[in-house]
Amino acid sequence: MTYSLHVAHLYGDLMNTYGDIGNILVLNYYAKKINVTLTSEVVSLDQTFDPTKFDLALFGGGQDYEQVIVSKDIQSKKAALTSFIEDNGPVLAICGGYQLLGQYYIGANGQRIEGISALPHYTKSQDHNRFIGDIDIKNEETGEVYVGFENHNGVTYLGAGERPLGKVLTGHGNNGQDQTEGAIYKNTFCSYFHGPILARNHNLAKRILLLALKRKYPQADFSQAEATLAQID
Ligand code: GLN
Repeated sequence: MTYSLHVAHLYGDLMNTYGDIGNILVLNYYAKKINVTLTSEVVSLDQTFDPTKFDLALFGGGQDYEQVIVSKDIQSKKAALTSFIEDNGPVLAICGGYQLLGQYYIGANGQRIEGISALPHYTKSQDHNRFIGDIDIKNEETGEVYVGFENHNGVTYLGAGERPLGKVLTGHGNNGQDQTEGAIYKNTFCSYFHGPILARNHNLAKRILLLALKRKYPQADFSQAEATLAQID
């Protein structure tokens, strides 16, 4: 039996700050190690997101300029993306992508950039400041420590039903106040981490890959694949 995963790279031509596309390359690296075929396609402006066609969705970061363009277009994909998320579809959303899955982002010059409210967080802007630098967080459920590089104006506040990806050890995180970083809702993982996040946090890459496989092939036994992944960096 050969297994395959098809990834939607949401707005990959517009939202790819600091090479967030590297997250797909990392997933592909681990997929190959366990003989899984991973393919991806960009889903961008004026294209349809068909939730039945994809096993994973990745959404990278972007500057406010691109976010305004994407914000208008993504409203037409709101229902499909929301149903994918509600149906436990695995999603990784970074920075600007994270902000757009939430209710709204007030951009650096004060304009309100609508999200799709698939997740309940919202993002305001800071006055003449950005959070820039290395950041470490600890996921309180697994005890795993994740490292990354953050560069954002937005300050995000989580809503009901969202858990943080981790507690800030060093750096700023969602808002510089409540020590939360990122968000987890069902199988959707959000973070401000560039780096790209999966290149620097192998545990998270493996976790997302296995989640996608187990969801697509609920009858299959992936214990051998898990053991193989556990042995490689
Ligand atoms: N433009 C957004 C902000 O400054 C997102 C930045 C990013 O994706 N790196 O907060």
